[in-house]
Amino acid sequence: MLDQQRALVAQACRVAAARELVDGILGHVSLRVDDEHLLIRCRSDTDDGLAFTRPSDIRLITFAGNEGAPGELDGYRVPNELPIHTETLLADPRRRAVAHLHPPAIVAANLAGIEIRPIYGAYDIPGAWLARGGVPVYERAVLIRNSRLAKDMVAAMRNRPVVILRGHGITSAASTVEESVLQAISVNELARMSLRVKAAGGTLREIDEADWDDLPDLGSGFNVDAAWRHEVARLDQPS
Ligand SMILES: [Zn+2]
Repeated sequence: MLDQQRALVAQACRVAAARELVDGILGHVSLRVDDEHLLIRCRSDTDDGLAFTRPSDIRLITFAGNEGAPGELDGYRVPNELPIHTETLLADPRRRAVAHLHPPAIVAANLAGIEIRPIYGAYDIPGAWLARGGVPVYERAVLIRNSRLAKDMVAAMRNRPVVILRGHGITSAASTVEESVLQAISVNELARMSLRVKAAGGTLREIDEADWDDLPDLGSGFNVDAAWRHEVARLDQPS
């Protein structure tokens, strides 16, 4: 079970990198295992970056940041921003997975003063609904390395699935690892499209209120399972 979960978190890191949600070595994904333990992408002296995350890079730790079983942190270090994960998970028991990523398009859109709003509908229905509910912004650009800052970030998140961290990145929380990354992909696409529309000289406008009735939830089999299969298949494709 734990090995499967390690493989899934590692896969999620590789998907995030493949989707340009991180560049280089920064960013991490975590999964709550039980009330005291979580799995998280750790760092080591053989770390080649998020795109090359191995299942062995995912370590079992306690919420206090100590090893979750003997030897789990031998040769591995927890990320500086571990409090992002622990405070986000502790704030809501329904959250089991957290992705903290540095997506350039989202950071650029936010710095350009663009708010993530539902500018499209059927193009990406889960993304449109996510935007409709709001994607709040944590205004500080700091490294979130203690629980005081992480609690500030969680407060700014206002129980929404995704919060943008100004001049930094995003935190995405969900009940599954797959959804935490798929949400990030959706917000990234909204940011990229917003930047494209602006670059083309257009004005960002929300879709018509009447359209929401015909933007149905197509179910997790489609929105999560099929979407995730696609993300994994893309990884295996030679570029
Ligand atoms: Zn960060």
